[in-house]
Amino acid sequence: MGLVGNRQLVDKFGRVHTDLRISVTDRCNFRCEYCMPAEGMVWLDRSDVLTFEEIERVTRVLAEQCGVRTVRLTGGEPTMRARLPVLVAKLAALGVELSMTTNGATLAQQADDLRAAGLKRVNISIDSLRADRFQQLTRRDSLTPVLEGIDAAVRAGFEPVKLNVVLMRGINDDEVVDFLHLGRTKGVVIRFIEFMPLDAQGEWSSDRVVPHAEIVARAAEHFAFDPIERGSSPAERFVYADGAGEFGVIASVTEPFCGSCDRMRLTAEGQLRNCLFALGHSDLRSILRDGGSDDDLAAAVAGEIDRKWAGHAIGQVHFLRPSKSMSQIGG
Ligand code: SAM
Ligand code: SF4
Repeated sequence: MGLVGNRQLVDKFGRVHTDLRISVTDRCNFRCEYCMPAEGMVWLDRSDVLTFEEIERVTRVLAEQCGVRTVRLTGGEPTMRARLPVLVAKLAALGVELSMTTNGATLAQQADDLRAAGLKRVNISIDSLRADRFQQLTRRDSLTPVLEGIDAAVRAGFEPVKLNVVLMRGINDDEVVDFLHLGRTKGVVIRFIEFMPLDAQGEWSSDRVVPHAEIVARAAEHFAFDPIERGSSPAERFVYADGAGEFGVIASVTEPFCGSCDRMRLTAEGQLRNCLFALGHSDLRSILRDGGSDDDLAAAVAGEIDRKWAGHAIGQVHFLRPSKSMSQIGG
Protein backbone atom coordinates (compact mmCIF):
# COMPACT_ATOMS: atom_id res chain seq x y z
CA MET A 1 0.00 0.00 0.00
CA GLY A 2 1.14 3.54 -0.74
CA LEU A 3 0.26 5.67 2.26
CA VAL A 4 0.68 3.99 5.65
CA GLY A 5 0.18 4.97 9.29
CA ASN A 6 3.04 7.44 9.51
CA ARG A 7 2.13 8.48 5.93
CA GLN A 8 5.40 7.28 4.47
CA LEU A 9 5.38 6.35 0.79
CA VAL A 10 6.00 2.61 0.86
CA ASP A 11 5.50 0.51 -2.27
CA LYS A 12 4.53 -3.13 -2.72
CA PHE A 13 8.16 -4.17 -2.42
CA GLY A 14 8.72 -2.34 0.88
CA ARG A 15 10.75 0.49 -0.64
CA VAL A 16 10.29 3.77 1.26
CA HIS A 17 10.26 6.83 -1.00
CA THR A 18 11.99 9.85 0.52
CA ASP A 19 13.60 11.46 -2.55
CA LEU A 20 11.86 13.76 -5.03
CA ARG A 21 13.42 14.87 -8.33
CA ILE A 22 11.81 17.99 -9.72
CA SER A 23 12.24 19.04 -13.33
CA VAL A 24 11.84 22.83 -13.24
CA THR A 25 11.96 23.27 -17.02
CA ASP A 26 12.14 21.12 -20.16
CA ARG A 27 14.31 23.75 -21.91
CA CYS A 28 18.06 23.58 -22.28
CA ASN A 29 20.96 25.65 -23.60
CA PHE A 30 22.79 22.45 -24.73
CA ARG A 31 21.74 19.80 -27.21
CA CYS A 32 23.63 16.76 -25.93
CA GLU A 33 23.59 14.10 -28.61
CA TYR A 34 22.20 11.42 -26.30
CA CYS A 35 19.50 13.65 -24.84
CA MET A 36 18.04 15.95 -27.50
CA PRO A 37 17.95 16.27 -31.30
CA ALA A 38 20.09 19.08 -32.77
CA GLU A 39 17.03 21.03 -33.86
CA GLY A 40 13.30 20.92 -33.69
CA MET A 41 12.72 20.46 -29.96
CA VAL A 42 9.17 21.50 -29.16
CA TRP A 43 9.07 23.11 -25.73
CA LEU A 44 6.19 23.05 -23.33
CA ASP A 45 4.00 26.12 -23.36
CA ARG A 46 4.93 28.25 -20.34
CA SER A 47 1.37 28.04 -19.02
CA ASP A 48 1.72 24.24 -18.90
CA VAL A 49 4.82 24.37 -16.68
CA LEU A 50 4.25 24.30 -12.92
CA THR A 51 4.64 27.68 -11.21
CA PHE A 52 6.98 28.12 -8.24
CA GLU A 53 3.93 28.16 -5.96
CA GLU A 54 2.67 24.87 -7.42
CA ILE A 55 6.10 23.22 -7.06
CA GLU A 56 6.33 24.52 -3.50
CA ARG A 57 2.89 23.12 -2.64
CA VAL A 58 3.64 19.63 -3.97
CA THR A 59 6.97 19.62 -2.14
CA ARG A 60 5.37 20.84 1.09
CA VAL A 61 2.72 18.10 1.00
CA LEU A 62 5.32 15.44 0.27
CA ALA A 63 7.72 16.71 2.95
CA GLU A 64 5.14 17.35 5.66
CA GLN A 65 2.77 14.45 5.04
CA CYS A 66 4.73 11.77 3.23
CA GLY A 67 8.27 11.73 4.62
CA VAL A 68 10.16 13.20 1.65
CA ARG A 69 13.51 14.49 2.90
CA THR A 70 15.68 15.13 -0.15
CA VAL A 71 14.81 17.15 -3.26
CA ARG A 72 16.91 17.46 -6.40
CA LEU A 73 16.23 20.15 -9.00
CA THR A 74 16.85 19.10 -12.57
CA GLY A 75 15.49 19.48 -16.08
CA GLY A 76 16.05 20.16 -18.96
CA GLU A 77 18.60 22.59 -17.65
CA PRO A 78 17.39 23.93 -14.28
CA THR A 79 19.50 27.08 -14.45
CA MET A 80 17.49 28.13 -17.53
CA ARG A 81 14.46 28.70 -15.30
CA ALA A 82 14.24 32.42 -14.55
CA ARG A 83 14.60 33.44 -10.87
CA LEU A 84 15.67 29.95 -9.82
CA PRO A 85 17.09 31.21 -6.46
CA VAL A 86 13.55 32.32 -5.54
CA LEU A 87 12.32 28.72 -5.91
CA VAL A 88 15.36 27.40 -4.05
CA ALA A 89 14.61 29.68 -1.11
CA LYS A 90 10.96 28.56 -1.02
CA LEU A 91 11.92 24.87 -1.00
CA ALA A 92 14.79 25.30 1.46
CA ALA A 93 12.32 26.88 3.89
CA LEU A 94 10.41 23.57 3.91
CA GLY A 95 13.39 21.91 5.60
CA VAL A 96 14.25 19.47 2.79
CA GLU A 97 17.85 18.90 1.75
CA LEU A 98 18.20 20.52 -1.64
CA SER A 99 20.53 19.62 -4.49
CA MET A 100 20.65 20.26 -8.24
CA THR A 101 21.90 18.54 -11.39
CA THR A 102 23.12 21.03 -13.99
CA ASN A 103 25.27 21.26 -17.09
CA GLY A 104 27.19 23.99 -15.24
CA ALA A 105 27.43 26.37 -18.20
CA THR A 106 26.05 29.36 -16.27
CA LEU A 107 27.11 28.36 -12.77
CA ALA A 108 29.93 30.89 -12.77
CA GLN A 109 27.21 33.55 -12.74
CA GLN A 110 24.64 31.75 -10.57
CA ALA A 111 26.52 29.63 -8.01
CA ASP A 112 26.72 32.25 -5.23
CA ASP A 113 23.03 33.23 -5.45
CA LEU A 114 21.90 29.61 -5.46
CA ARG A 115 24.11 28.74 -2.50
CA ALA A 116 22.89 31.80 -0.56
CA ALA A 117 19.28 30.80 -1.28
CA GLY A 118 19.80 27.41 0.41
CA LEU A 119 20.99 24.98 -2.28
CA LYS A 120 23.39 22.55 -0.61
CA ARG A 121 24.87 20.28 -3.27
CA VAL A 122 25.41 20.29 -7.03
CA ASN A 123 26.09 17.61 -9.61
CA ILE A 124 27.61 19.01 -12.79
CA SER A 125 27.40 16.95 -15.96
CA ILE A 126 30.50 16.85 -18.12
CA ASP A 127 31.27 14.01 -20.51
CA SER A 128 34.58 15.13 -22.00
CA LEU A 129 37.57 17.27 -21.05
CA ARG A 130 38.58 17.73 -24.69
CA ALA A 131 37.11 20.87 -26.24
CA ASP A 132 36.41 19.36 -29.67
CA ARG A 133 34.82 16.25 -28.24
CA PHE A 134 32.83 18.28 -25.71
CA GLN A 135 31.47 20.37 -28.57
CA GLN A 136 30.57 17.31 -30.58
CA LEU A 137 28.76 15.71 -27.62
CA THR A 138 26.85 18.79 -26.45
CA ARG A 139 26.67 20.64 -29.80
CA ARG A 140 27.95 23.70 -27.93
CA ASP A 141 31.45 25.18 -27.65
CA SER A 142 31.15 25.47 -23.87
CA LEU A 143 33.86 23.43 -22.17
CA THR A 144 35.52 26.55 -20.71
CA PRO A 145 32.35 27.97 -19.09
CA VAL A 146 31.55 24.55 -17.64
CA LEU A 147 35.04 24.25 -16.12
CA GLU A 148 34.62 27.79 -14.74
CA GLY A 149 31.22 26.72 -13.38
CA ILE A 150 32.84 23.80 -11.54
CA ASP A 151 35.37 26.15 -9.92
CA ALA A 152 32.60 28.59 -9.02
CA ALA A 153 30.61 25.78 -7.38
CA VAL A 154 33.60 24.76 -5.25
CA ARG A 155 34.25 28.40 -4.27
CA ALA A 156 30.58 28.96 -3.40
CA GLY A 157 30.82 26.16 -0.83
CA PHE A 158 28.64 23.43 -2.31
CA GLU A 159 29.55 20.22 -0.49
CA PRO A 160 30.08 17.93 -2.19
CA VAL A 161 30.45 19.01 -5.81
CA LYS A 162 30.06 15.94 -8.01
CA LEU A 163 30.78 15.60 -11.72
CA ASN A 164 28.46 13.25 -13.65
CA VAL A 165 30.25 11.56 -16.54
CA VAL A 166 28.22 9.32 -18.86
CA LEU A 167 30.72 6.91 -20.41
CA MET A 168 30.04 5.64 -23.93
CA ARG A 169 32.06 3.01 -25.76
CA GLY A 170 34.25 4.48 -28.48
CA ILE A 171 33.17 8.04 -27.60
CA ASN A 172 34.78 9.02 -24.29
CA ASP A 173 35.78 5.77 -22.57
CA ASP A 174 39.44 6.77 -22.95
CA GLU A 175 38.97 9.65 -20.47
CA VAL A 176 38.43 7.70 -17.23
CA VAL A 177 41.86 8.48 -15.83
CA ASP A 178 41.80 12.14 -17.00
CA PHE A 179 38.53 12.64 -15.12
CA LEU A 180 39.90 10.99 -11.98
CA HIS A 181 42.94 13.29 -12.09
CA LEU A 182 40.64 16.30 -12.45
CA GLY A 183 38.52 15.18 -9.50
CA ARG A 184 41.55 14.70 -7.27
CA THR A 185 43.00 18.08 -8.28
CA LYS A 186 39.82 20.09 -7.84
CA GLY A 187 38.54 18.24 -4.77
CA VAL A 188 35.34 17.11 -6.49
CA VAL A 189 33.75 13.65 -6.70
CA ILE A 190 33.70 12.02 -10.14
CA ARG A 191 30.70 9.78 -10.77
CA PHE A 192 30.80 7.65 -13.89
CA ILE A 193 27.34 6.70 -15.15
CA GLU A 194 26.51 3.81 -17.47
CA PHE A 195 24.78 4.94 -20.66
CA MET A 196 21.05 4.19 -20.44
CA PRO A 197 18.46 3.50 -23.16
CA LEU A 198 16.80 6.90 -22.82
CA ASP A 199 18.63 8.71 -25.59
CA ALA A 200 16.92 11.08 -27.99
CA GLN A 201 17.84 9.37 -31.24
CA GLY A 202 17.32 5.79 -30.11
CA GLU A 203 20.98 5.00 -30.81
CA TRP A 204 21.52 3.21 -27.53
CA SER A 205 22.72 -0.35 -27.71
CA SER A 206 24.19 -2.54 -25.02
CA ASP A 207 27.59 -2.59 -26.71
CA ARG A 208 27.84 1.18 -26.17
CA VAL A 209 27.60 0.71 -22.39
CA VAL A 210 30.94 0.74 -20.57
CA PRO A 211 30.33 -1.67 -17.67
CA HIS A 212 31.23 -0.55 -14.17
CA ALA A 213 33.71 -3.43 -13.73
CA GLU A 214 35.73 -2.12 -16.66
CA ILE A 215 35.67 1.44 -15.29
CA VAL A 216 36.91 0.30 -11.88
CA ALA A 217 39.60 -1.87 -13.47
CA ARG A 218 40.84 1.06 -15.54
CA ALA A 219 40.94 3.30 -12.46
CA ALA A 220 42.85 0.61 -10.55
CA GLU A 221 45.66 0.69 -13.11
CA HIS A 222 46.49 4.23 -11.92
CA PHE A 223 45.20 4.71 -8.39
CA ALA A 224 44.89 2.80 -5.12
CA PHE A 225 41.42 2.88 -3.56
CA ASP A 226 39.01 0.88 -1.43
CA PRO A 227 35.24 0.39 -1.68
CA ILE A 228 33.17 2.17 0.96
CA GLU A 229 29.65 1.64 2.24
CA ARG A 230 27.26 3.00 -0.39
CA GLY A 231 24.30 3.54 1.97
CA SER A 232 21.24 4.58 -0.06
CA SER A 233 23.47 6.01 -2.81
CA PRO A 234 22.98 4.51 -6.28
CA ALA A 235 26.73 4.85 -6.77
CA GLU A 236 29.30 2.27 -5.82
CA ARG A 237 31.78 4.43 -3.93
CA PHE A 238 35.54 4.19 -3.69
CA VAL A 239 37.88 6.16 -1.44
CA TYR A 240 41.47 6.83 -2.52
CA ALA A 241 44.08 5.25 -0.28
CA ASP A 242 46.11 8.50 -0.24
CA GLY A 243 43.20 10.54 1.16
CA ALA A 244 42.53 12.49 -2.06
CA GLY A 245 38.76 12.03 -1.81
CA GLU A 246 36.49 9.54 -3.55
CA PHE A 247 34.87 8.59 -6.83
CA GLY A 248 31.85 6.51 -7.75
CA VAL A 249 30.25 4.44 -10.48
CA ILE A 250 26.52 4.28 -11.15
CA ALA A 251 25.88 0.90 -12.75
CA SER A 252 22.29 1.61 -13.77
CA VAL A 253 22.42 -0.94 -16.58
CA THR A 254 24.75 -3.77 -15.55
CA GLU A 255 23.90 -3.74 -11.83
CA PRO A 256 20.63 -1.89 -11.35
CA PHE A 257 19.90 -0.54 -7.88
CA CYS A 258 16.11 -0.76 -8.33
CA GLY A 259 15.80 -2.89 -5.19
CA SER A 260 16.74 0.08 -3.01
CA CYS A 261 15.22 2.85 -5.14
CA ASP A 262 13.72 5.64 -3.03
CA ARG A 263 13.02 8.11 -5.87
CA MET A 264 10.07 9.65 -7.62
CA ARG A 265 10.07 12.30 -10.31
CA LEU A 266 7.93 15.35 -10.97
CA THR A 267 8.10 16.56 -14.58
CA ALA A 268 8.01 20.24 -15.51
CA GLU A 269 4.33 19.95 -16.46
CA GLY A 270 3.42 18.30 -13.18
CA GLN A 271 3.37 14.59 -13.98
CA LEU A 272 4.52 12.36 -11.15
CA ARG A 273 6.48 9.35 -12.45
CA ASN A 274 7.50 6.49 -10.17
CA CYS A 275 10.56 5.46 -12.25
CA LEU A 276 12.85 6.96 -14.88
CA PHE A 277 11.60 4.20 -17.18
CA ALA A 278 7.94 4.39 -16.15
CA LEU A 279 5.45 4.18 -18.99
CA GLY A 280 2.71 6.04 -17.11
CA HIS A 281 2.29 8.89 -14.62
CA SER A 282 -0.16 10.69 -12.32
CA ASP A 283 -1.22 14.16 -13.34
CA LEU A 284 -0.68 16.34 -10.27
CA ARG A 285 -1.15 19.56 -12.23
CA SER A 286 -4.84 18.94 -12.74
CA ILE A 287 -5.27 18.31 -9.01
CA LEU A 288 -3.40 21.57 -8.30
CA ARG A 289 -5.38 23.59 -10.84
CA ASP A 290 -8.82 22.03 -10.31
CA GLY A 291 -9.04 22.90 -6.62
CA GLY A 292 -7.81 19.57 -5.21
CA SER A 293 -6.88 19.38 -1.53
CA ASP A 294 -3.50 18.51 -0.02
CA ASP A 295 -4.96 15.09 0.81
CA ASP A 296 -5.93 14.62 -2.85
CA LEU A 297 -2.32 15.35 -3.83
CA ALA A 298 -0.90 12.97 -1.21
CA ALA A 299 -3.34 10.24 -2.25
CA ALA A 300 -2.41 10.61 -5.93
CA VAL A 301 1.28 10.34 -5.09
CA ALA A 302 0.65 7.31 -2.86
CA GLY A 303 -1.32 5.66 -5.68
CA GLU A 304 1.53 6.25 -8.13
CA ILE A 305 4.07 4.76 -5.72
CA ASP A 306 1.73 1.80 -5.19
CA ARG A 307 1.90 1.07 -8.93
CA LYS A 308 5.71 1.06 -8.98
CA TRP A 309 7.27 -2.02 -10.50
CA ALA A 310 10.15 -4.05 -9.11
CA GLY A 311 12.67 -2.71 -11.61
CA HIS A 312 13.31 -1.34 -15.08
CA ALA A 313 14.27 -4.68 -16.70
CA ILE A 314 16.79 -3.18 -19.15
CA GLY A 315 18.26 -6.03 -21.16
CA GLN A 316 15.31 -8.35 -20.58
CA VAL A 317 12.85 -9.29 -23.31
CA HIS A 318 9.94 -7.45 -21.73
CA PHE A 319 11.84 -4.11 -21.40
CA LEU A 320 9.95 -1.25 -23.06
CA ARG A 321 11.64 2.07 -23.76
CA PRO A 322 9.71 5.06 -22.45
CA SER A 323 8.72 7.49 -25.20
CA LYS A 324 10.39 10.36 -23.33
CA SER A 325 14.08 11.27 -23.04
CA MET A 326 15.93 12.16 -19.82
CA SER A 327 15.41 15.87 -20.40
CA GLN A 328 11.63 15.46 -20.59
CA ILE A 329 11.41 13.22 -17.54
CA GLY A 330 13.93 15.04 -15.37
CA GLY A 331 17.19 13.11 -15.14
N1 SAM B 1 20.72 19.52 -17.86
C1 SAM B 1 21.14 18.96 -16.64
C2 SAM B 1 22.41 18.15 -16.82
O1 SAM B 1 22.77 17.86 -17.96
O2 SAM B 1 23.02 17.84 -15.81
C3 SAM B 1 20.09 18.14 -15.91
C4 SAM B 1 19.25 17.22 -16.74
S1 SAM B 1 20.14 15.89 -17.51
C5 SAM B 1 18.82 15.06 -18.37
C6 SAM B 1 20.51 14.89 -16.10
C7 SAM B 1 21.57 13.85 -16.29
O3 SAM B 1 21.10 12.85 -17.16
C8 SAM B 1 22.88 14.35 -16.89
O4 SAM B 1 23.95 14.01 -16.03
C9 SAM B 1 22.99 13.59 -18.19
O5 SAM B 1 24.33 13.31 -18.51
C10 SAM B 1 22.21 12.35 -17.86
N2 SAM B 1 21.72 11.63 -19.04
C11 SAM B 1 20.97 12.10 -20.07
N3 SAM B 1 20.68 11.11 -20.95
C12 SAM B 1 21.28 9.97 -20.45
C13 SAM B 1 21.36 8.61 -20.88
N4 SAM B 1 20.77 8.19 -22.00
N5 SAM B 1 22.06 7.73 -20.11
C14 SAM B 1 22.66 8.14 -18.96
N6 SAM B 1 22.60 9.40 -18.50
C15 SAM B 1 21.93 10.30 -19.24
FE1 SF4 C 1 20.54 19.62 -21.71
FE2 SF4 C 1 21.30 18.11 -19.67
FE3 SF4 C 1 20.03 17.03 -21.80
FE4 SF4 C 1 22.50 17.91 -22.09
S1 SF4 C 1 21.84 16.22 -20.73
S2 SF4 C 1 20.77 18.34 -23.49
S3 SF4 C 1 22.56 19.63 -20.73
S4 SF4 C 1 19.18 18.45 -20.37
